[in-house]
Amino acid sequence: MSSASQSRKLSPKEILAELVAFDTTSDKTNIPMAEWVRDYLAGHGVEAKMLPSEDGLHTNMFATIGPKDKPGIGLSGHMDVVPTTGQPWDTNPYEMVERDGRLYGRGTCDMKGFIACVLAMVPEFAARKLSTPIHIVLSYDEEVGCTGVKPMIAEFEKTIPKPRLVIVGEPTLMSVVDAHKGGYRFRTDITGKDAHSSKPQLGVGAIRVAGELISELGRIEERHKAALSNPRFDPPYASITVSSIEGGIAHNIIPPKCSFTWGVRAMPGTDALGMARELQDYAERELLPWMRAVHPDCNIETHTLGILPPFDSGEGSEARTLVLKLIGQNETYAVPYGTEASHFQAAGCSTVVIGPGSIDQAHQPNE
Ligand SMILES: [Zn+2]
Repeated sequence: MSSASQSRKLSPKEILAELVAFDTTSDKTNIPMAEWVRDYLAGHGVEAKMLPSEDGLHTNMFATIGPKDKPGIGLSGHMDVVPTTGQPWDTNPYEMVERDGRLYGRGTCDMKGFIACVLAMVPEFAARKLSTPIHIVLSYDEEVGCTGVKPMIAEFEKTIPKPRLVIVGEPTLMSVVDAHKGGYRFRTDITGKDAHSSKPQLGVGAIRVAGELISELGRIEERHKAALSNPRFDPPYASITVSSIEGGIAHNIIPPKCSFTWGVRAMPGTDALGMARELQDYAERELLPWMRAVHPDCNIETHTLGILPPFDSGEGSEARTLVLKLIGQNETYAVPYGTEASHFQAAGCSTVVIGPGSIDQAHQPNE
């Protein structure tokens, strides 16, 4: 690996080869990659600020090119990648390979490709008298619930400026994405009452209660589907998925515990937390009275595990208008997957998603 502390111009391809060589799977450290980027920027006279995580294993990075006294345009990417475990790769995923004009390697598309393009432009940005600054905004742990970008956003207007506008370079084949669904994750815990399975009247089977709750989730989804649909999305409604379930001890014991996890792919306007409340109302109305009549400790509780709000840049948003003009397109798209755009938009930065590569190759073997 070549040293980055040089002011030599590198092509996007050369930079991408360097970035892919760092295994920045979310559970590993991304600091060596961040240091490489910091040294590269320093080589072009740009000072980068590292914003490390509390455990010191990861770091965000923020750099400004141009005037320091006003908010500018943020070019945002995440440094982490998804694991390659169990995937049938034809080549070493951490060594970029070019074949038939395509670049292969973990992160080439999601999303070190965009970061490499941004970094390759730095000498040009730095050579210009910019009236509006450009911010390079790099996060960690996007792939495990956008946990890295949140502490960086919390520093906006404290230790780093808040960008006026943010371009999130996730792979969209260079189409402008101005809306996406959000993701809400929940876990519902059921406490029943154990009993010998020959004496069911003395117990409350938690797995059967889970079955009732899961059926109710289907009805909640139907109600919301009837109330809110949006043809920009595929599917055009907020969908609910029950993703895992756990419970039971032995064939002759009424199971006292059951937990299941579920999630909502929410559209802008969907009240996903309201869906969790509807489930609880149903539990309190239809299930808990008879459960507690058998045993007072019976309980049903839903915990929120994670929230990525839906993203909607808005019709006349500054980011949307600027990027459409720059790339000479007049159409925007809505996508079903989530990005950090939700958090930037929620923090008051006008945001769109646009970047090289296709989401179809992201997270796949031979990316
Ligand atoms: Zn990504």
